[in-house]
Amino acid sequence: MCVDLHTHSVHSDGTSSVEELVTQAARLHLAGYALTDHDTIEGQEEAIDLGKQHDVPLVTGLEVSAVHKEHSLHILAYGFDHRSNTFQTWLERLQQGRNKRNRTIIEKLRKLGLDVSHDELDSISDQGQTGRPHIARLLLKKKIVSNLDQAFRRYLGRDKPAWAPRFTYTAQETIAAIHMAGGLAVLAHPGLLDSGMKLQTTLITELAAYGLDGIETYYPSHSSKMQSFLMRLAGKNNLVMTGGSDYHGDNKPGTGLAGSGRFCPPDTIMGEIAQRLRKNNLTLTPTKTVEAKACIPS
Ligand code: AMP
Ligand code: ZN
Ligand code: FE
Ligand code: FE
Repeated sequence: MCVDLHTHSVHSDGTSSVEELVTQAARLHLAGYALTDHDTIEGQEEAIDLGKQHDVPLVTGLEVSAVHKEHSLHILAYGFDHRSNTFQTWLERLQQGRNKRNRTIIEKLRKLGLDVSHDELDSISDQGQTGRPHIARLLLKKKIVSNLDQAFRRYLGRDKPAWAPRFTYTAQETIAAIHMAGGLAVLAHPGLLDSGMKLQTTLITELAAYGLDGIETYYPSHSSKMQSFLMRLAGKNNLVMTGGSDYHGDNKPGTGLAGSGRFCPPDTIMGEIAQRLRKNNLTLTPTKTVEAKACIPS
Protein backbone atom coordinates (compact mmCIF):
# COMPACT_ATOMS: atom_id res chain seq x y z
CA MET A 1 0.00 0.00 0.00
CA CYS A 2 1.07 3.59 -0.65
CA VAL A 3 1.03 6.85 1.30
CA ASP A 4 0.75 10.37 -0.04
CA LEU A 5 2.06 12.99 2.37
CA HIS A 6 2.33 15.94 0.00
CA THR A 7 -0.86 17.35 -1.57
CA HIS A 8 -2.35 20.79 -2.20
CA SER A 9 -6.00 21.89 -2.13
CA VAL A 10 -7.93 25.07 -2.99
CA HIS A 11 -6.75 26.42 0.38
CA SER A 12 -3.48 27.16 -1.44
CA ASP A 13 -2.68 26.58 -5.11
CA GLY A 14 -4.29 23.21 -5.76
CA THR A 15 -7.55 22.93 -7.71
CA SER A 16 -9.21 20.11 -5.68
CA SER A 17 -11.34 20.61 -2.59
CA VAL A 18 -10.30 18.89 0.64
CA GLU A 19 -13.28 16.56 0.24
CA GLU A 20 -12.19 15.55 -3.26
CA LEU A 21 -8.68 14.84 -2.00
CA VAL A 22 -9.66 12.76 1.02
CA THR A 23 -12.29 10.77 -0.90
CA GLN A 24 -9.69 10.06 -3.61
CA ALA A 25 -7.23 8.97 -0.90
CA ALA A 26 -9.92 6.57 0.38
CA ARG A 27 -10.66 5.27 -3.12
CA LEU A 28 -6.94 4.60 -3.64
CA HIS A 29 -6.79 2.83 -0.23
CA LEU A 30 -3.88 5.02 0.87
CA ALA A 31 -2.27 3.84 4.11
CA GLY A 32 -1.42 7.44 5.01
CA TYR A 33 -2.43 10.87 3.82
CA ALA A 34 -1.52 14.50 4.56
CA LEU A 35 -2.86 17.75 3.15
CA THR A 36 0.15 20.09 2.90
CA ASP A 37 -1.05 23.45 1.64
CA HIS A 38 1.47 26.28 1.27
CA ASP A 39 1.76 28.43 4.41
CA THR A 40 -1.75 27.63 5.67
CA ILE A 41 -3.39 25.02 7.92
CA GLU A 42 -6.92 26.20 7.12
CA GLY A 43 -7.98 22.86 5.58
CA GLN A 44 -6.71 20.63 8.40
CA GLU A 45 -9.85 20.40 10.54
CA GLU A 46 -11.95 19.40 7.52
CA ALA A 47 -9.31 16.91 6.37
CA ILE A 48 -9.20 15.29 9.82
CA ASP A 49 -13.00 14.97 9.97
CA LEU A 50 -13.17 13.53 6.46
CA GLY A 51 -10.26 11.18 7.21
CA LYS A 52 -12.24 9.73 10.14
CA GLN A 53 -15.39 9.47 8.04
CA HIS A 54 -13.67 7.68 5.15
CA ASP A 55 -11.22 5.66 7.22
CA VAL A 56 -8.10 7.31 5.81
CA PRO A 57 -5.11 7.34 8.22
CA LEU A 58 -4.20 11.01 8.32
CA VAL A 59 -1.47 13.16 9.81
CA THR A 60 -1.70 16.97 9.94
CA GLY A 61 0.42 18.66 7.27
CA LEU A 62 1.77 21.93 5.90
CA GLU A 63 4.42 23.14 3.43
CA VAL A 64 6.34 26.24 4.48
CA SER A 65 8.65 28.31 2.26
CA ALA A 66 11.89 29.21 4.03
CA VAL A 67 15.44 30.36 3.36
CA HIS A 68 18.79 28.92 4.42
CA LYS A 69 21.83 30.96 3.39
CA GLU A 70 21.27 31.62 -0.32
CA HIS A 71 18.86 28.69 -0.74
CA SER A 72 15.07 28.88 -1.01
CA LEU A 73 13.61 25.76 0.58
CA HIS A 74 10.25 24.16 1.22
CA ILE A 75 9.85 22.54 4.62
CA LEU A 76 6.99 20.13 5.27
CA ALA A 77 5.46 19.88 8.74
CA TYR A 78 3.69 16.76 10.04
CA GLY A 79 1.77 15.87 13.15
CA PHE A 80 1.61 19.39 14.65
CA ASP A 81 -1.27 20.72 16.72
CA HIS A 82 -3.44 22.42 14.10
CA ARG A 83 -5.32 24.29 16.81
CA SER A 84 -2.21 26.00 18.20
CA ASN A 85 -2.86 29.76 18.28
CA THR A 86 0.86 30.49 18.46
CA PHE A 87 1.48 28.52 15.29
CA GLN A 88 -1.47 30.20 13.53
CA THR A 89 -0.06 33.61 14.44
CA TRP A 90 3.39 32.55 13.26
CA LEU A 91 1.89 31.56 9.89
CA GLU A 92 -0.02 34.85 9.56
CA ARG A 93 3.20 36.69 8.89
CA LEU A 94 3.85 34.46 5.88
CA GLN A 95 0.28 34.94 4.69
CA GLN A 96 0.59 38.74 4.94
CA GLY A 97 3.85 38.49 2.99
CA ARG A 98 2.02 36.65 0.21
CA ASN A 99 -0.74 39.27 0.06
CA LYS A 100 1.81 42.04 -0.18
CA ARG A 101 3.72 40.26 -2.93
CA ASN A 102 0.54 39.52 -4.92
CA ARG A 103 -0.31 43.23 -4.90
CA THR A 104 3.19 44.09 -6.10
CA ILE A 105 3.05 41.50 -8.90
CA ILE A 106 -0.32 42.81 -10.17
CA GLU A 107 1.05 46.37 -10.12
CA LYS A 108 4.13 45.25 -12.06
CA LEU A 109 1.98 43.46 -14.65
CA ARG A 110 -0.18 46.58 -15.02
CA LYS A 111 2.91 48.73 -15.51
CA LEU A 112 3.94 46.33 -18.27
CA GLY A 113 0.67 47.31 -19.95
CA LEU A 114 -1.31 44.16 -19.13
CA ASP A 115 -4.99 44.45 -18.31
CA VAL A 116 -5.18 42.60 -14.98
CA SER A 117 -6.69 43.67 -11.66
CA HIS A 118 -6.70 42.66 -8.00
CA ASP A 119 -10.43 41.92 -8.20
CA GLU A 120 -9.90 39.52 -11.09
CA LEU A 121 -7.19 37.74 -9.10
CA ASP A 122 -9.56 37.46 -6.13
CA SER A 123 -12.17 35.86 -8.35
CA ILE A 124 -9.64 33.24 -9.56
CA SER A 125 -8.57 32.53 -5.97
CA ASP A 126 -11.73 32.90 -3.94
CA GLN A 127 -10.41 31.19 -0.82
CA GLY A 128 -7.18 30.48 1.04
CA GLN A 129 -3.68 31.48 0.06
CA THR A 130 -3.18 33.08 -3.33
CA GLY A 131 0.07 32.20 -5.08
CA ARG A 132 1.75 32.74 -8.42
CA PRO A 133 -0.12 29.78 -9.98
CA HIS A 134 -3.35 31.77 -9.51
CA ILE A 135 -1.79 34.78 -11.22
CA ALA A 136 -0.64 32.46 -14.01
CA ARG A 137 -4.23 31.21 -14.37
CA LEU A 138 -5.46 34.79 -14.62
CA LEU A 139 -2.95 35.50 -17.40
CA LEU A 140 -4.12 32.34 -19.18
CA LYS A 141 -7.80 33.23 -18.76
CA LYS A 142 -7.15 36.65 -20.29
CA LYS A 143 -5.25 34.98 -23.16
CA ILE A 144 -2.09 36.93 -22.31
CA VAL A 145 -0.22 33.61 -22.23
CA SER A 146 -1.07 30.27 -23.84
CA ASN A 147 -0.14 28.03 -20.88
CA LEU A 148 0.82 28.25 -17.19
CA ASP A 149 4.49 27.56 -17.80
CA GLN A 150 4.67 30.48 -20.24
CA ALA A 151 3.31 32.77 -17.50
CA PHE A 152 6.27 31.81 -15.29
CA ARG A 153 8.81 31.99 -18.12
CA ARG A 154 7.66 35.41 -19.34
CA TYR A 155 6.50 37.20 -16.20
CA LEU A 156 6.37 35.41 -12.85
CA GLY A 157 9.53 33.31 -12.57
CA ARG A 158 12.53 34.47 -10.58
CA ASP A 159 14.11 37.61 -12.10
CA LYS A 160 11.36 37.90 -14.73
CA PRO A 161 9.72 41.34 -15.15
CA ALA A 162 6.84 40.80 -12.69
CA TRP A 163 8.76 38.79 -10.10
CA ALA A 164 8.63 40.12 -6.54
CA PRO A 165 10.15 38.90 -3.27
CA ARG A 166 8.15 38.10 -0.18
CA PHE A 167 8.75 37.61 3.52
CA THR A 168 10.02 34.20 4.57
CA TYR A 169 11.44 32.89 7.83
CA THR A 170 14.79 31.15 7.91
CA ALA A 171 14.90 27.35 7.85
CA GLN A 172 16.16 27.37 11.45
CA GLU A 173 13.20 29.48 12.60
CA THR A 174 10.81 27.30 10.62
CA ILE A 175 12.08 24.06 12.14
CA ALA A 176 11.84 25.59 15.65
CA ALA A 177 8.27 26.85 15.04
CA ILE A 178 7.14 23.43 13.76
CA HIS A 179 8.67 21.78 16.84
CA MET A 180 6.96 24.30 19.11
CA ALA A 181 3.64 23.22 17.57
CA GLY A 182 4.54 19.59 18.28
CA GLY A 183 5.32 18.59 14.69
CA LEU A 184 8.11 17.11 12.61
CA ALA A 185 10.07 19.20 10.11
CA VAL A 186 10.89 17.51 6.82
CA LEU A 187 12.81 18.95 3.86
CA ALA A 188 10.53 18.83 0.79
CA HIS A 189 11.73 17.52 -2.60
CA PRO A 190 15.48 17.77 -1.84
CA GLY A 191 16.24 16.52 -5.35
CA LEU A 192 14.91 19.74 -6.89
CA LEU A 193 17.61 21.76 -5.12
CA ASP A 194 20.38 20.28 -7.28
CA SER A 195 19.95 17.45 -9.74
CA GLY A 196 23.77 17.09 -9.72
CA MET A 197 23.57 16.11 -6.00
CA LYS A 198 26.34 18.51 -4.98
CA LEU A 199 24.35 20.75 -2.64
CA GLN A 200 22.40 18.26 -0.56
CA THR A 201 25.07 16.70 1.67
CA THR A 202 26.17 19.97 3.30
CA LEU A 203 22.69 21.48 3.31
CA ILE A 204 20.99 18.49 4.93
CA THR A 205 23.77 18.13 7.51
CA GLU A 206 23.32 21.81 8.44
CA LEU A 207 19.55 21.49 8.68
CA ALA A 208 19.90 18.30 10.75
CA ALA A 209 21.94 20.33 13.23
CA TYR A 210 18.91 22.67 13.56
CA GLY A 211 16.74 19.65 14.36
CA LEU A 212 15.39 18.66 10.94
CA ASP A 213 13.52 15.37 11.39
CA GLY A 214 13.28 14.02 7.88
CA ILE A 215 13.71 14.37 4.14
CA GLU A 216 11.17 13.74 1.41
CA THR A 217 12.95 10.86 -0.25
CA TYR A 218 10.08 9.59 -2.39
CA TYR A 219 9.03 12.28 -4.88
CA PRO A 220 7.76 11.78 -8.46
CA SER A 221 10.65 13.57 -10.19
CA HIS A 222 13.43 12.01 -8.07
CA SER A 223 15.43 9.53 -10.15
CA SER A 224 16.23 6.14 -8.59
CA LYS A 225 19.83 7.37 -8.24
CA MET A 226 18.60 10.46 -6.39
CA GLN A 227 16.39 8.30 -4.16
CA SER A 228 19.30 6.01 -3.20
CA PHE A 229 21.50 9.04 -2.54
CA LEU A 230 18.84 10.57 -0.26
CA MET A 231 18.34 7.24 1.53
CA ARG A 232 22.06 7.21 2.40
CA LEU A 233 21.89 10.84 3.57
CA ALA A 234 18.84 10.07 5.73
CA GLY A 235 20.70 7.14 7.31
CA LYS A 236 23.81 9.20 8.03
CA ASN A 237 21.83 12.03 9.65
CA ASN A 238 19.26 9.88 11.45
CA LEU A 239 16.35 11.33 9.44
CA VAL A 240 12.92 9.90 8.73
CA MET A 241 12.22 9.31 5.02
CA THR A 242 8.84 10.56 3.80
CA GLY A 243 7.16 10.79 0.40
CA GLY A 244 4.36 12.42 -1.52
CA SER A 245 3.15 13.37 -4.99
CA ASP A 246 2.92 17.18 -4.64
CA TYR A 247 -0.48 16.89 -6.30
CA HIS A 248 -1.92 20.30 -7.34
CA GLY A 249 -4.81 19.11 -9.57
CA ASP A 250 -5.00 21.12 -12.82
CA ASN A 251 -2.33 23.55 -11.60
CA LYS A 252 0.29 20.83 -12.10
CA PRO A 253 -0.86 18.68 -14.99
CA GLY A 254 0.63 15.19 -15.23
CA THR A 255 0.94 14.58 -11.48
CA GLY A 256 -1.62 12.22 -9.91
CA LEU A 257 -1.99 11.14 -6.30
CA ALA A 258 0.26 8.32 -5.08
CA GLY A 259 -1.24 4.94 -5.88
CA SER A 260 -2.98 6.22 -9.03
CA GLY A 261 0.06 5.40 -11.18
CA ARG A 262 3.47 3.90 -10.50
CA PHE A 263 4.48 6.37 -7.78
CA CYS A 264 4.01 4.68 -4.40
CA PRO A 265 5.83 5.80 -1.22
CA PRO A 266 5.78 2.79 1.17
CA ASP A 267 3.26 2.46 4.01
CA THR A 268 6.08 1.95 6.57
CA ILE A 269 6.45 5.77 6.55
CA MET A 270 3.43 6.25 8.84
CA GLY A 271 4.97 4.09 11.58
CA GLU A 272 8.29 5.90 11.30
CA ILE A 273 6.56 9.29 11.63
CA ALA A 274 4.63 8.11 14.68
CA GLN A 275 7.81 6.76 16.28
CA ARG A 276 9.71 9.99 15.62
CA LEU A 277 6.88 12.09 17.04
CA ARG A 278 7.02 10.05 20.23
CA LYS A 279 10.78 10.35 20.42
CA ASN A 280 10.96 14.13 19.85
CA ASN A 281 11.66 16.39 22.75
CA LEU A 282 9.34 19.31 22.04
CA THR A 283 10.79 21.89 24.37
CA LEU A 284 12.83 23.89 21.85
CA THR A 285 12.84 27.62 22.40
CA PRO A 286 11.75 29.93 19.58
CA THR A 287 14.48 31.76 17.73
CA LYS A 288 14.55 35.42 16.84
CA THR A 289 12.55 36.40 13.75
CA VAL A 290 14.49 38.08 10.98
CA GLU A 291 13.52 39.44 7.56
CA ALA A 292 14.82 37.03 4.96
CA LYS A 293 16.54 38.31 1.84
CA ALA A 294 15.84 35.56 -0.61
CA CYS A 295 12.58 34.04 -1.72
CA ILE A 296 10.98 31.17 -3.50
CA PRO A 297 12.59 28.86 -6.09
CA SER A 298 12.27 29.58 -9.82
P1 AMP B 1 4.33 30.72 -4.84
O1 AMP B 1 4.10 29.80 -3.69
O2 AMP B 1 3.26 31.75 -4.98
O3 AMP B 1 5.70 31.32 -4.88
O4 AMP B 1 4.24 29.81 -6.15
C1 AMP B 1 5.01 28.68 -6.23
C2 AMP B 1 4.26 27.61 -6.99
O5 AMP B 1 4.39 27.90 -8.38
C3 AMP B 1 4.81 26.21 -6.76
O6 AMP B 1 3.82 25.40 -6.19
C4 AMP B 1 5.17 25.70 -8.13
O7 AMP B 1 4.61 24.42 -8.33
C5 AMP B 1 4.55 26.69 -9.10
N1 AMP B 1 5.45 26.92 -10.23
C6 AMP B 1 6.72 27.36 -10.18
N2 AMP B 1 7.25 27.44 -11.44
C7 AMP B 1 6.27 27.03 -12.29
C8 AMP B 1 6.17 26.85 -13.72
N3 AMP B 1 7.21 27.14 -14.53
N4 AMP B 1 5.00 26.42 -14.26
C9 AMP B 1 3.96 26.14 -13.44
N5 AMP B 1 3.97 26.24 -12.09
C10 AMP B 1 5.12 26.68 -11.52
ZN1 ZN C 1 2.09 24.79 -4.83
FE1 FE D 1 7.25 22.59 -2.77
FE1 FE E 1 4.13 21.28 -2.68
